[in-house]
Amino acid sequence: MEAGRDFLTILRPGQRVSAAVIMTLVLLCAGVMTVLSHFSKTEEQTRNDKNQRASDYVASLYREAETVSRAAEPFEEGACTNEVLTRLRHIVAVNPHIRSVNLYPENGTGCSSLEGRLPERKVSYSEGHVPFYTTMKQEDGYIYYLVYFRSSASLTGVAVNGYFVRDALRYISPDAAFYPLQDFMKLSPAGYAWKSSQYPFVLVSSDSINIRRLLLHSRAVILFILGVSLLAGWLTYVSTGLINTPRFALKYYLYKKSFYPVYQPVISTRDRKVAGLEILMRCGNKKGNEVSPALFIPLAEQSGMIGDLTMQLLEKVRKDFAMLSEKGLYLAVNITSEIVENPGTFRELLKFTEHAQRYGLDVLVEITERQSFSLTEQLSEKFALLRKAGLHVAIDDFGTGYSNLSSITQLNPDYLKIDKDFTGYSMAGGVREAVLESVLHISAITAIPVIAEGIETPAQFQYLQERGVWLFQGYLFCRPSDSRRVCDFIQDFSGRH
Ligand code: C2E
Ligand code: CA
Ligand code: CA
Repeated sequence: MEAGRDFLTILRPGQRVSAAVIMTLVLLCAGVMTVLSHFSKTEEQTRNDKNQRASDYVASLYREAETVSRAAEPFEEGACTNEVLTRLRHIVAVNPHIRSVNLYPENGTGCSSLEGRLPERKVSYSEGHVPFYTTMKQEDGYIYYLVYFRSSASLTGVAVNGYFVRDALRYISPDAAFYPLQDFMKLSPAGYAWKSSQYPFVLVSSDSINIRRLLLHSRAVILFILGVSLLAGWLTYVSTGLINTPRFALKYYLYKKSFYPVYQPVISTRDRKVAGLEILMRCGNKKGNEVSPALFIPLAEQSGMIGDLTMQLLEKVRKDFAMLSEKGLYLAVNITSEIVENPGTFRELLKFTEHAQRYGLDVLVEITERQSFSLTEQLSEKFALLRKAGLHVAIDDFGTGYSNLSSITQLNPDYLKIDKDFTGYSMAGGVREAVLESVLHISAITAIPVIAEGIETPAQFQYLQERGVWLFQGYLFCRPSDSRRVCDFIQDFSGRH
């Protein structure tokens, strides 16, 4: 019973739990990844927008400095007169972000809108060679950036009010910083750097995309995903329980092509040879062990899958035709009425027979009396077609059903198979032996030969032989075996007799 439960239960509880856990984890991971990627994209977009805005603002300051430097150009070469100073101050006044403009001619004194005349000074290398060379200066707590512009005759320094740069950085984050760039300077800032495409500067801020922060930010959605994943896991556990039926197991074994044949010889004492082989179905379970048909045939019959199982079985029997040919045997196939009724399986049975005949093999169908069947007109026609194709018919388990005589008249069988329960009644005495005797009597009056199955002892064999039986099947001769073993048996048997 334990083996049966084991065989018909494909998914172990552990496997169902694993499937549920995998389902939960996969959904959770996929969900969290999607949410994180969505939020990080949004964050990135926001960060880029902020940087772009701040960068545009700082660029506008540079542009203003450039405008101022161009406006001051006419005064580069002259002396720093009061008029020049007034003009310079005017330029600064109309450019709101500019603090001052300084002119440094090649030779001579300079001129500053803020300080008036400037002492003569040497232009430094970087001031002289790089456009937009920018330095930060601090004076009385005020920060300003001096942006230098070089012209043929002089150097112009425009001081941009640092307050506006700081103001621009606030767009990004409180820790954002402004770094002017020079072409001789490599900047490798720690954090996220946004390089302006118009002027040489970068804006640097700490890397704002932080997984922990994202997780915290999206925790409500993540909790929801966790709930859905757990629900899906639970549903997986429940649904795998629902599909884990014996029917599912049969489908699994069908898919795995686990059904295969063994053969049991039927010997003829009249011809002293092996007359035929009964094909008995076996199933290899998950561990590769052989499983008895008692565990799955009744289920396959109830669930309407017996046709599929039989077709898979016959497909494998075909592979043994070559090995069994030239032995003049019949092959006995156990069938149910559905196989004959169903057009698909009926056709397959005919094809199987034709194929067997090409190898010199006969086909006998054993239809059991255990399951009651009514021989409709349609079914009779199909049996007639089977007969026409050369098939023989036997009533299996004869004597166990309720309608022995009617099944004989309806089917007109070629053989009656006495069930092993009845052969066991030989010499039992009393009613049991009388039942066996009556079955043998029916065989005698109808002249339909009997195949006695389940012969285990020489006494049973002798008893039935004395009563005219000449076809025998049972462990006394040979157990159901694979094709190779059964061929050896046939060889041995014909050698001995
Ligand atoms: P069955 O058609 O009556 O087959 C004979 C059963 O008796 C087989 O059992 C066989 O192994 C067993 N047997 C043979 N000789 C002896 C013996 O000396 N002593 C004892 N105790 N048993 C013996 P198996 O192979 O377990 O099959 C059981 C039943 O399963 C079969 O009874 C048949 O009804 C069904 N079956 C097997 N293969 C198929 C199949 O391909 N299709 C269908 N529809 N039913 C099948
Ligand atoms: Ca049988
Ligand atoms: Ca039987």
